[in-house]
Amino acid sequence: MSSTITGAAVVGGVCGQPIRHSMSPVIHNAWIQAAGLDAAYVPFAPAAERFETFVEGLRGGAVRGLNVTIPFKERALALADTASDLAKMAGAANLLIFAEDGSVHADNTDGPGLLGAIAAQASGFEVSAAPVVILGAGGAARGAVAALLLAGAPEIRIVNRTLARAEDLAEAFGAKVVAAEEATLPRLLADAGLVINATSLGLGGGEGPAADLTLTPAAAVVVDMVYKPLRTEFLRRAEAAGRRTVDGLEMLLRQAVPSFEAIYGVAPPAGVDVRAMALKLLGEA
Ligand code: NAP
Repeated sequence: MSSTITGAAVVGGVCGQPIRHSMSPVIHNAWIQAAGLDAAYVPFAPAAERFETFVEGLRGGAVRGLNVTIPFKERALALADTASDLAKMAGAANLLIFAEDGSVHADNTDGPGLLGAIAAQASGFEVSAAPVVILGAGGAARGAVAALLLAGAPEIRIVNRTLARAEDLAEAFGAKVVAAEEATLPRLLADAGLVINATSLGLGGGEGPAADLTLTPAAAVVVDMVYKPLRTEFLRRAEAAGRRTVDGLEMLLRQAVPSFEAIYGVAPPAGVDVRAMALKLLGEA
């Protein structure tokens, strides 16, 4: 939030249920303040059954843009008038932009967030160089598949506890995306360039997916979308195997960049250490 908000302030926000633990307001308001914008970014937690009514009331300029999180991402895409290719491919939106004419445009910045985090923490890594293994087949996996395909991934292998869900995902994306049984993981990992945990395993400090990361090529990069704790059991195993790692917090912070640009019309200002702020909120600093 800027130190002075006038009647002309640009308002953005984040909508989820619950929303109390979202780090987005802290991140966006730090950028707003540093950029000296007449703007604010606020949390919204409408009753789950009233999400569509809530968004309907924002059409035509009440807010400029809204990030959307669990459990509303699919419904956000469904209610939008137009959508980016990424949002359509992901089947979900984490960003709604409101035009003055009352229309709503849906986008998805989770996938770009993933790619941005990889570029930041595993610099030089080429998505197009080798197959990708994704553990999980939920909304986060779907967003990752969309972005990785657009970035040139040659093959994406989906392994999920519920095989049928992995098969549905593979079918939706075509020949480059394949569903595979958990038992085939050793073979799938042997030539993988990128391994991503897109399950909720490891959240809160528990064990991550059972994949044996020592089987991956030495140059493989391992990503965990889970960021509580920051160094998950999965990432610690990857590090012990000597692999480069990318954490879920970086992904979260990177998806906020295009969201901020779309809502406020300017890039986040340089020099704000939002990662340090987020680490403090997570109790990691
Ligand atoms: P989701 O749609 O609910 O999917 C959850 C996934 O985890 C499914 O594949 C599910 O398998 C699997 N899973 C859950 N419990 C499991 C267990 N005990 N054993 C094996 N697999 C299990 O959730 P989501 O939205 O995709 O999110 C997945 C994770 O990514 C969450 O931890 C979320 O916080 C994180 N995330 C992080 C970011 C970021 O910016 N860092 C962004 C988005 C999501 P089944 O299909 O068999 O149930």
